[in-house]
Amino acid sequence: MSKALLYDATLCIGCKQCEGACAEQNKLPYSDAVAAEEKQSEHKFTVVLTKNEKFMRRLCMNCEEPACASVCPVAALKKTPEGPVTYNADACMGCRYCMVACPFGVPKYEWNNALTPKIRKCIMCAPRVAKGEATACASICPTGATKFGDREELLAEAKKRIHENPNNYVNHIFGESEVGGTSVFLLSSVPFAEFGYRADTVTDPLPMRTYKVLSRIPDFLPIGGILIGGVWWISHRREEVAAAEGKDHAKPEDGGAK
Ligand code: SF4
Ligand code: SF4
Ligand code: SF4
Repeated sequence: MSKALLYDATLCIGCKQCEGACAEQNKLPYSDAVAAEEKQSEHKFTVVLTKNEKFMRRLCMNCEEPACASVCPVAALKKTPEGPVTYNADACMGCRYCMVACPFGVPKYEWNNALTPKIRKCIMCAPRVAKGEATACASICPTGATKFGDREELLAEAKKRIHENPNNYVNHIFGESEVGGTSVFLLSSVPFAEFGYRADTVTDPLPMRTYKVLSRIPDFLPIGGILIGGVWWISHRREEVAAAEGKDHAKPEDGGAK
């Protein structure tokens, strides 16, 4: 069964222990200076934002149909059946298409790593999830604001919380329908747009949109169309081939956390 995270901002106390646990899990530096940074970066995969004494986490949404993976020409990014969208640094060729494709601006590039730069992002603690463990951020959260569990059960729980306490929440589970659904659900008492989540995020899967756009590229743009279409075709073809060979989703890769 696919796993997910439910973050309920009404339970969050802004302690940032999730940030520290994430850094430890991914072998990233963490200090007071890093804790004060309010944006995701190649060395900070999740951020707890504060505004008017309200909190909100930002992290990779580990989309059900990830746009980042759909444009990757070498299938370095993959959606696993367990939920995480993993990253294989050895396969990555550094084209950075994923950074452009992600609707949430999540993938970051190691611009300061001249020798072996990688894309960095939260991979929903794929190695832990593969072993049946909760993510590091959920394991350490002292209030249950970040909860790990079965995706369908967490979605039902999120609906129940809104139904039972409608005055506590905006009537929206962010991640239920955005970009076709994600493996991270957010609940909040204030509109998500206040923390930079776009209110106009599309609800159909972005890879499908990419396909629709490509199918409408006119003939007078043959070279661009062929190039973009080639990227789309290659990435999907590789997945088809991997599936046919029985390799697909065999084992979540490490997220480059070396
Ligand atoms: S949020 Fe962005 S990086 Fe994360 S899985 Fe979705 S498209 Fe990929
Ligand atoms: S799931 Fe893992 S990698 Fe993602 S934010 Fe939580 S601790 Fe960090
Ligand atoms: S560990 Fe839990 S309570 Fe603390 S900031 Fe993170 S989500 Fe909020």
